[in-house]
Amino acid sequence: MKTVYLDNNATTQVAPEVLDAMLPYYSELYGNPSSMHSFGGQVAQKLREAREQVAALIGATPDEIIFTSCGTESDNAAIRSALATNPEKRHLVTSRVEHPAIRSLFANLAGQGYRVTELPVDKSGVLDLEHLVGSLSPDTAVVSLMWANNETGVIFPVEKAAELVRERGILFHSDAVQSTGKIPIDMKKNAIDMLSISGHKLHAPKGIGVLYVRRGTKFSPFMIGGHQEKGRRGGTENTPSIIGLGKACELAARHLVTENTTVRRLRDRLEAVLLKRIPQSRVNGDLLRRLPNTTNISFEFVEGEGILLLMNEYGICASSGSACTSGSLQPSHVLRAMGVPFTMAHGSIRFSLSVYSTEEEIDFVTEKLPPIIERLRNMSPYWTSVAQACATA
Ligand code: PLP
Repeated sequence: MKTVYLDNNATTQVAPEVLDAMLPYYSELYGNPSSMHSFGGQVAQKLREAREQVAALIGATPDEIIFTSCGTESDNAAIRSALATNPEKRHLVTSRVEHPAIRSLFANLAGQGYRVTELPVDKSGVLDLEHLVGSLSPDTAVVSLMWANNETGVIFPVEKAAELVRERGILFHSDAVQSTGKIPIDMKKNAIDMLSISGHKLHAPKGIGVLYVRRGTKFSPFMIGGHQEKGRRGGTENTPSIIGLGKACELAARHLVTENTTVRRLRDRLEAVLLKRIPQSRVNGDLLRRLPNTTNISFEFVEGEGILLLMNEYGICASSGSACTSGSLQPSHVLRAMGVPFTMAHGSIRFSLSVYSTEEEIDFVTEKLPPIIERLRNMSPYWTSVAQACATA
């Protein structure tokens, strides 16, 4: 059975060019980049190139790039550094719809006595900057807002938010794990101090991430050890993955146009056909301020898990809620924060495409999904009573 992979916000396939770039560093080129000999030195040279490739994708300078093990580590390193460099400040600001990498960290810090403000979003998942401004105080150490939401794709106005925060002398961090490589990012043109990236969301392998730290921003390392990453992240470098990430960033820069044309068109087609063929369905999230690859659709009166299981029988991969929260039957915290009604939130499915998605795959899903929803609804007592009420009205 062919796999139709529409779960690219959970993880992406490693691009063939990325794998090719990495393989020699698992076999013959295994030197340690910190070694004095030229066998290690040639690996160090390749790491320099990778750092330049990553920096180029986001308009940064190579010395602003710190390689980490994942997006979660980057988020943790950024926030802990902000707190360590501002020990007198005890207040943190974030939003209600962040990924657990930030949400759970902030909950943990709240347990240690920090005051945490979680900004609300409206029913489209959009953030109101007036709430942000109203939340700031001289005691605020850092504001952390995601660039784009992993479940709905909704894009936050982080550049404007960072300006407002900088005017008040407060640090600003953004989790750009979902936006990097999908929409343009230019760190020369914004006031964001720290930015998190994860390799496996942009066709590099799992287990590699980046923390961007703006030049001049005070930084206190989370991982203390050797002199790697100029003492900002100890530990022998994951050389094949860093080299792979460099290549992935080079490809992502070239694919930005495709993301915003071909991928967007395919996503729009998937969404339009499903909404047309399936009654009582709707898109969650602002339709305009949204990543081009993501759609989150609710099918009322069905369970997302049921839909996923039946789609799985056809090899179709998607997510209900976020990949990290599926496994629990609670509606996702993101949809709850948006006030999506319970019967809609439960039947929500996230489809996330990539530059490898094809028209045939989209047509396959639009053909298979409507009968799946119909089948599940016919088994649902809610749906049966709604259908009866409509018939007698
Ligand atoms: N932040 C966001 C918005 C994410 O979507 C994810 C992963 O899904 C992460 C952080 C965590 O990244 P990683 O899996 O690299 O730790």
